[in-house]
Amino acid sequence: MAGIEERFAALAHTVSIPHPWRLSDYVERVAAHRGRPITLHPVDAGLLAGDGCGTGSGLWIARRDADLIVYGADTTQWHAEHIVVHELGHMLLGHGAEPEPSAPAVPEQTLAAVAELLPSISLESIAQVLGRTDYGTARERDAESFADLVMLRALRPPRRNSLLHKTFFRDGRS
Ligand SMILES: [Zn+2]
Repeated sequence: MAGIEERFAALAHTVSIPHPWRLSDYVERVAAHRGRPITLHPVDAGLLAGDGCGTGSGLWIARRDADLIVYGADTTQWHAEHIVVHELGHMLLGHGAEPEPSAPAVPEQTLAAVAELLPSISLESIAQVLGRTDYGTARERDAESFADLVMLRALRPPRRNSLLHKTFFRDGRS
């Protein structure tokens, strides 16, 4: 399988990264690409109790017809956006496929935590809740690298062929 830099370059071509950067624009583009709406739900990171992704503060909740990203928002804007993009990375990298009828049931413990976080959501509509332990180390690392690369590009000045660009994206371009 291609390295994460190559996969990032291909994905950045398929779903372009907004410039100037706006997280909401990027979320919309990813949603359009997947054909499923994505909504963001900021919470106090403490509520996730380390169940989430990366540093424990992001969660992807797949409903039958939409995706939710729960993220710890009590941090810097950059870090909060990094958490969201990490979850988008899981989606774009194909971690946790579309919910299938055969998918294993969501553990009751996790459902209880989600019910507490998002009381307005009917638990019956939830197909999958994906946190850190569902991905394994390699996928976690890839999603984190993906978020790093997106956020690097988001912050990039509108100048082509910068040293940063060459260093990080050289191998993914043909
Ligand atoms: Zn993750």
